[in-house]
Amino acid sequence: MTAADNQQWVRERIVPAEIDKYLRLDGSDYVDDAEIARLLEATGEPEAEQVRAIIAKAMAVQTLSQEELATLMRVRDPDLREEMRFAAGAVKRQVYDNRIVTFAPLYLSSKCVNNCVYCGLRGENEAVERRVLSMDEVRAEAEALAGTLGHKRLVVVYGEHPESGADYIAESIRAIYSVKVPTRKGVGQIRRVNVNAAPMRVSELKTLHECGLGTFQVFQETYDRRAYAQMHPAHTLKGDFRWRLTAMHRAQEAGIDDNGIGVLYGLSDWRFELLGQQAHALEMERFCGIGPHTLSFPRLEPAVNTPFLENPKWRVGDDDFERIVTLARLAVPYAGLILTARESPAMRRRLLPLGVTQMDAASNIGVGAYAGGQEKQQGERQQFLLGDPRGLDEVIREWAGMGCITSFCTAGYRCGRTGKCIMDLLRSGAEGKFCKLNAVLTFKEWLDDFATPETQAVGEALLQKELDEVRRTQPKIWPAFWANYQRTAAGERDLYF
Ligand code: SF4
Repeated sequence: MTAADNQQWVRERIVPAEIDKYLRLDGSDYVDDAEIARLLEATGEPEAEQVRAIIAKAMAVQTLSQEELATLMRVRDPDLREEMRFAAGAVKRQVYDNRIVTFAPLYLSSKCVNNCVYCGLRGENEAVERRVLSMDEVRAEAEALAGTLGHKRLVVVYGEHPESGADYIAESIRAIYSVKVPTRKGVGQIRRVNVNAAPMRVSELKTLHECGLGTFQVFQETYDRRAYAQMHPAHTLKGDFRWRLTAMHRAQEAGIDDNGIGVLYGLSDWRFELLGQQAHALEMERFCGIGPHTLSFPRLEPAVNTPFLENPKWRVGDDDFERIVTLARLAVPYAGLILTARESPAMRRRLLPLGVTQMDAASNIGVGAYAGGQEKQQGERQQFLLGDPRGLDEVIREWAGMGCITSFCTAGYRCGRTGKCIMDLLRSGAEGKFCKLNAVLTFKEWLDDFATPETQAVGEALLQKELDEVRRTQPKIWPAFWANYQRTAAGERDLYF
């Protein structure tokens, strides 16, 4: 494609009617700047009784209002803050038990028409090599991930560019699902393809839904309109704040009911961001009864030839970041919380007990990096630099040592437990009973197919505890479950409840 073709593509991408229909009658959108400013102006320490009532609401797995979230943000008393941290962990255990879901990011393209000032892949950054993988290369990446590392769930990432538009995304999803690789005892395959991409039109999203797209992620980056305009040049596609703000409305209208939202922390005041994100969660619930499936917490990380990252005004420190995760856990208690390998191992250890439910490992964010055996942290080939470069085996061993079972389960999605169904099951605690069974089966698969002897020993000890718990707490289902467990141990794969 020529530069003129690209410009034409950019000009035609946004459909104003697919923004306007989701606005309020007065033309406003769901991020009420004045209301957020009003909430942030209040500075007094809230009464302990009031704080505990809000914590109790979170423990009942009810979404908090913006006002309630703002109240929790004002807590300075160390004992009350400790109560909030404890409650965040308790909410997570109540909704998700001791499971931690793992996935790998997979970058298929590094061409981008946008120029976000914080991003190493911005179109004007000449220090970065540009690639869009062919379908053979996409399959090779999936083979490496499913056959060598043992991943079953991906978040596939695409730059916004005509060469990696909706047709390319659809083809790549099909290519990834087609891969099956022999493993030590069974067969490896990717069972859930989540996508992190630019906002799309309803018709495009319908196509992706039909190809089996899992969760659709679009992060607003910042809910602060002024900061958004500074970070995303107006003449670029991403410069349209509301096209992005309404991305999830279009996804839900297209039938995609698992949607992930997030903030890139460090672009504006994190308090504003959390309240903006809460407005988004409440808007999704209002619009079609389904809130966000996941919340993500990327923080700014260094990237090659990206001066903005040297000293951003709103960089979020570790203590504030811990507060963000705690507050988000309480604010949207049913949502999965994703903490990626952008963060250091120490930070991931610190935040896991506060309610994180999903983390990646063995991540390599260079385009074509898994099959190509590319060294990690090649700045000229990736969007940013990672904080946790450890392998999956080491990370899973650490989680098992912390009492967390790694789940590769994707059964819920394939049994139709998505969207409102999964949200209601999570709220009631009922999903946990399926998840525990499937976590055990998939953990057994992974230990047998990929773990080192050291990790197998730690993992098998944890499995014994989990098996005892299932036998004790779910006696009716135990015989069928035990039969599936034995079939899994014998090499059968993808058995689930
Ligand atoms: S953040 Fe995304 S849209 Fe912006 S320049 Fe980077 S890859 Fe492109």
